[in-house]
Amino acid sequence: YGSILDALAYWAETTPDALAVETSDHGRLTYAQLLDDAHSLARGFLSLGLKVGDRVAIQLPSSPEFIVTYMACKMTGCVLTTLHMPYRQEELRPLMSFAEPRAVVTARVGRYDAPATMMALSREIPSLEHVIVVGEPAGGQVGFADLVATHRNGDLPARPPLDCDAALCFTSGTSGTSAAPKGVLRSQRCFARNASVFAGLLSMTAKDRVLIAPPLTHVFGLSCAGNAIHSGATIVPIPIFSPEVYAEYLFEMRPTVVYSAPAHLAATLKSGEMDRRSAETVRNVIVGGAICPPDIAARFEARLPNGRVGCLYGMTEMTLSTQTDPAASAAIRHGTVGKAAPGMTARVVHRETGEVLPAGAEGELQFSGYTVLKGYVGAHEANQSAFAEDGWFRTGDIASLDAEGNIMITGRVKDVINRGGIKINPSDIESLLDGHEAIVQSAVVSMPDEILGERLCAYVVLRPGTELSLAEVCDYLARCKVAKMRWPERLEILDAMPMTPTRKIIKPVLIADIRKKLG
Ligand code: ATP
Ligand code: MG
Repeated sequence: YGSILDALAYWAETTPDALAVETSDHGRLTYAQLLDDAHSLARGFLSLGLKVGDRVAIQLPSSPEFIVTYMACKMTGCVLTTLHMPYRQEELRPLMSFAEPRAVVTARVGRYDAPATMMALSREIPSLEHVIVVGEPAGGQVGFADLVATHRNGDLPARPPLDCDAALCFTSGTSGTSAAPKGVLRSQRCFARNASVFAGLLSMTAKDRVLIAPPLTHVFGLSCAGNAIHSGATIVPIPIFSPEVYAEYLFEMRPTVVYSAPAHLAATLKSGEMDRRSAETVRNVIVGGAICPPDIAARFEARLPNGRVGCLYGMTEMTLSTQTDPAASAAIRHGTVGKAAPGMTARVVHRETGEVLPAGAEGELQFSGYTVLKGYVGAHEANQSAFAEDGWFRTGDIASLDAEGNIMITGRVKDVINRGGIKINPSDIESLLDGHEAIVQSAVVSMPDEILGERLCAYVVLRPGTELSLAEVCDYLARCKVAKMRWPERLEILDAMPMTPTRKIIKPVLIADIRKKLG
């Protein structure tokens, strides 16, 4: 198919009654219904005056309505602008002012009245004219169901060209010292090709049921939804993650393929849910979004009677770009992110000289190929530094390649701590700390120092009922044969790590915390 919409039309025609989306409590849609609802919503968008290039923001749990909105955006050339569900007015304001959406699709979730928040924001953001609400609309709001129901018939919108933008997604804001997410536009063409490649890498078919644990508001979840539609498979999205919900979906919703962040596996293993039952239907679990400790991948795989855990690497700037071969050895599947996917080429370069390095050497990971963004939106400076002289995209990740081209991610350039000239990769220390019996989660960050410039501070979350001192951490690292210059010089104990909705630790929050404490 030329596009995800072509795939949707094909499956709606050939398997109209097959399920396109299914959740345990947010409803389900067949392929015929998805196409029909999306056409109706697209006509509704046109009736509101929305046109190609207009931004339509979305703050919804992963749900059938989310997928309908995404498809209606593709049909009208509107740009789906994704806002994570846990965000409130303070987090939404900068993103909305930046994106200037003309409409937003949202819903009340629990005690959070997102529609009211959006109405308030619309008074500050003049572009925002329409607040479309899944559920009961209040005064001044448009009902999603009404909009669909009143536009069942009529002309179909003219299909916009494949080169138009499909989505405006934000990076997670987890690296460097500022937690400000950057906006990235992704084209319909990129999503379409990505879906056909990544569905192919897992030999996905219409029989598959594809559990998507990362939110659809993140490029990871959104891309994976495309893989499923490309294949005529069923999208089984987790509306809002918790270990209990994850386990329920794994055991009750009969997924065959599971896309997940490493933190989902770790949290669900820790919850004990995995010990109670077994997920027989699962054949492939694919993790991505952050470094996955090989031990977590192996322990999760041990719980799957018929399934294997593999890994993919992607970023907002590059959609999905690598994946391990499902047939590869456990060492490759759990210890690397696999090879550059078809259409992509990877290289590792020296961080100072830019010289391309041979297999085995560690340096900055760079890519060229169709998934690479054209540039950040309205961020001239970021664009200047994002590309190498010959145009390759600088991921900002530290990695090495093996002789076969498998990529091993070992850290992030911006997280490297310069302790008096010695460059220390905090990921190395974190992976050791994570192996300590009292530690559930760790993050090593830089703290400013007059003499050395920077020193290491370790933030940890402890197992309930345990205690830990800095001296004990140092003893442990000594036993791990780590040189003293790489030991943390301060220990901070937290009840919980600051995490993004995509389950990544937000290091800028920790860096700000330690700077504040040091004055
Ligand atoms: P920001 O760029 O705003 O600081 P971010 O980089 O966390 O945030 P995302 O685009 O969500 O925002 O994440 C991309 C990053 O996630 C990659 O650069 C990489 O560091 C990490 N990542 C993704 N997949 C993997 C993986 N399989 N293994 C290790 N790291 C990964
Ligand atoms: Mg990034």
